[in-house]
Amino acid sequence: MDSQERSLRQEIIKVCRKLESQGLIAASDGNVSCRTGGDCMLITPSGVSKGDLEPEEIAKTSMQGNLLEGPMRPSNEIRMHVHVYRMRPDVSAVVHAHPPVATAFTLAGFPFNSKALPEVWFMLGKVPVAPYATPSTDEVPQSIEPYVMDSRAILLKRHGALTFGGSLVEACMRMEKLEHCAKVLFYASMLEEGKVPVPLTDKEIAKLGSSD
Ligand SMILES: [Zn+2]
Repeated sequence: MDSQERSLRQEIIKVCRKLESQGLIAASDGNVSCRTGGDCMLITPSGVSKGDLEPEEIAKTSMQGNLLEGPMRPSNEIRMHVHVYRMRPDVSAVVHAHPPVATAFTLAGFPFNSKALPEVWFMLGKVPVAPYATPSTDEVPQSIEPYVMDSRAILLKRHGALTFGGSLVEACMRMEKLEHCAKVLFYASMLEEGKVPVPLTDKEIAKLGSSD
């Protein structure tokens, strides 16, 4: 294993811990991959808690998804990663997570409008919702296909989200931003315009005495 691969494995571990600590994945959810030299990729294994992953447990596969090295089976969603890399030679890393608020948008049919916040539009552009597809099947890559060329982030109906980019850090930041934006949109939807909490009256405040 060369030093580049060793540091990519460490970066994947960092991303997995971040996803878990921010509540973007739970239990054995999610999968993270990146290209490595020599027409190969590194991808998290199936069925384990990604927050507890060790670097040597990460699978090394061909760009077609065939296992080359690793003690465990690569992620069940590897087809989705293979598909993104096949369609987008400019993409070096792919992150799939189950961000709760953004995923709830897809269940409720609530629009994710990335144009509502300038920095989100700048970072993510338009965020499409791919139709429901049975997880871990060929339906998943088929469902994202129409959106991969023109997106950096895709919501997966009833399932989660997919982000990708030129590096692991970039793909992870896009996932974080996606969920953060979903939270802001959600809070804004609860705060109806013109409806603000009614404060105590001056008399009631006076009865409380000094606020010091
Ligand atoms: Zn998933």
